[in-house]
Amino acid sequence: MWYTEKQTADLGFSCRVKEMLLRVKSDFQEIAVMDTYQFGRMLVLDGMVQTTDADEYIYHEMITHVPMRTHPHPENVLVIGGGDGGAVREVAKYPQVRNITLVEIDAQVIDVCRRFFPQISAALTDSRVDVRIADGVEFVKGASNSYDLVIVDSTEPVGPAVELFGATFYSNIYKALKEDGILVAQTESPFFNVGLIQSVSRHIKRIFPLFHLYLAPVPTYPGGLWSFTIGSKKYSPLEPQGSYLPDEARYYTPLLHRSCFTLPRFVQELLTG
Ligand code: SAM
Repeated sequence: MWYTEKQTADLGFSCRVKEMLLRVKSDFQEIAVMDTYQFGRMLVLDGMVQTTDADEYIYHEMITHVPMRTHPHPENVLVIGGGDGGAVREVAKYPQVRNITLVEIDAQVIDVCRRFFPQISAALTDSRVDVRIADGVEFVKGASNSYDLVIVDSTEPVGPAVELFGATFYSNIYKALKEDGILVAQTESPFFNVGLIQSVSRHIKRIFPLFHLYLAPVPTYPGGLWSFTIGSKKYSPLEPQGSYLPDEARYYTPLLHRSCFTLPRFVQELLTG
């Protein structure tokens, strides 16, 4: 049995499947979990791969350790989306963190990940973690001067995630951050989502004093090369100030932190285009 994600109208990504473990419809999306030969268990929402046992560490380490080590003392962290718990797991490795708020719109994603991805979702039971089932767009409207770091670990810009890539949402995050706070967002593929990266970069450059884009390879995502966007009020991610380094990281290293901001020319050009 093979599973194929239609990544674009003209491109499919296929995996041989050992077993389909779950296929349900929540109030927000279709949730599927399958056991694949190549990547182990795979979480698929509305036909799009979100995370797999084999490559999840790259995405989750890069969306967290880069901003966490940019900030000298991150204590309050907000994760929007991220119901699999992978970003929370990485943030929870930092002993100085006091509170991690996870705002996920779909309670069923959390339940499914607790059941099928225990190694990704394990930190959701950490006493510092507060799980809220809510729309991240609405949640940030009510917050001000509260967080050191906001991580937007969203699905692709479809359905309830569309507004998670919009200017109003980023302005509300700016308000929700403390005066030296940092925003990081997953911003899709530089091959297939040029327009999206350009619009996000325009918004972030207008709202935040510092804008940076960085890259990491994620084998199961369209094109295999993924982008993350940082908006920072004070600290430059090019000069990381954090002293603590989780020793369990498998992808992230301090040297890689510096090199991931070195962009290929086609990405530099799309940012100035
Ligand atoms: N790492 C993944 C990727 O890039 O494909 C994203 C993982 S995580 C599973 C994304 C989560 O965002 C989903 O569980 C989805 O339910 C949630 N989500 C989508 N829109 C949301 C919103 N407006 N507020 C909060 N969570 C949202």
